[in-house]
Amino acid sequence: MTTLTKTEDTPAPTGPEAFLSVRDLSVRFSTEDGVVKAVDGLSFDVARGKTLGIVGESGSGKSVTNLTVLGLHNPKNTTIDGEIVLDGQELVTATEKELEKVRGNKAAMIFQDPLTALSPYYTVGRQIAEPFMKHTGASKRAAWERAVEMLAKVGIPNPKERAKDYPHQFSGGMRQRAMIAMALVCDPDLLIADEPTTALDVTVQAQILDLLKDLQQEFGSAIVFITHDLGVIADMADDIMVMYAGSAIERGTTDQVLRSPQHPYTWGLLNSMPRLDSDLSAPLTPIPGSPPSLLNPPAGCRFHPRCTFQDRVGGNRCVAERPLLGPDRASACHLTADQKRTIFIEEIKPRLG
Ligand code: SF4
Repeated sequence: MTTLTKTEDTPAPTGPEAFLSVRDLSVRFSTEDGVVKAVDGLSFDVARGKTLGIVGESGSGKSVTNLTVLGLHNPKNTTIDGEIVLDGQELVTATEKELEKVRGNKAAMIFQDPLTALSPYYTVGRQIAEPFMKHTGASKRAAWERAVEMLAKVGIPNPKERAKDYPHQFSGGMRQRAMIAMALVCDPDLLIADEPTTALDVTVQAQILDLLKDLQQEFGSAIVFITHDLGVIADMADDIMVMYAGSAIERGTTDQVLRSPQHPYTWGLLNSMPRLDSDLSAPLTPIPGSPPSLLNPPAGCRFHPRCTFQDRVGGNRCVAERPLLGPDRASACHLTADQKRTIFIEEIKPRLG
């Protein structure tokens, strides 16, 4: 069941000329154990030519959000509230036929594992050519030429010959490139990349990230880049949204979020990451505890069972009252701006180096 209602939660960001605009998005799954609140009151914008990095642990709602944007959820057990507007077109209420037109043509997704996106039964060239034929009405021959051109563009050597290969004849890095070629073959205006380099070694990872940046410059696409790796996001994103337990808990430019993070969860993420410019023998500080079950998330601030700063707030507010994210530069936390500044300067910054 897919429904559309307006909810009141996260205030909308004020992005310029958003190409993708998500407002008060909530996604719930019915399961045998109950209702999973996978995404709860999420709002964000992405403009053309810009990259939004979405960061968070597994189960934070990053991937569900983006599968929902492309209508790739299971409509039988999913309830969606809110708005998803892509280039002026409302997608929550769109029919499957309308969504099919959007997917591949206007928006495309790059997955972490290319083997889930590439069929073992067809040549790589055919799998790149088919969406092009479908969305543009090009002839078989023109689509094949386009597939070869795209393979060349993503750096596959000898693309004319390699287009005739099957996915198992490609290396892992080449399969990832082929999937990027498939995603970009119709010049989509929105590209969603879900952990696209996690399974690759660092050299290939760097090549793929450079390739995405080059292609974004060429096509002017908006990119949503999902990862748990803050190092990758620092390299790729203009803006960052940090997600926790289905909600955005911090948002700002990449520089703001990485240089002066405001939310205790973001502090925890940064503290738990190794840094090349700090003492590599110093122990990392993991965030205590684990992410909550989304069947029954904690009341008040969802991060409170893991937060070591809730005693600075007072009045049991963290347990009783849910903090909301403000517009623009924001963190969903009851700590005052002064408290945050003091904690950051005296306790967090020295640890970040
Ligand atoms: Fe921690 Fe309270 Fe802020 Fe939540 S609202 S992050 S529990 S201080």
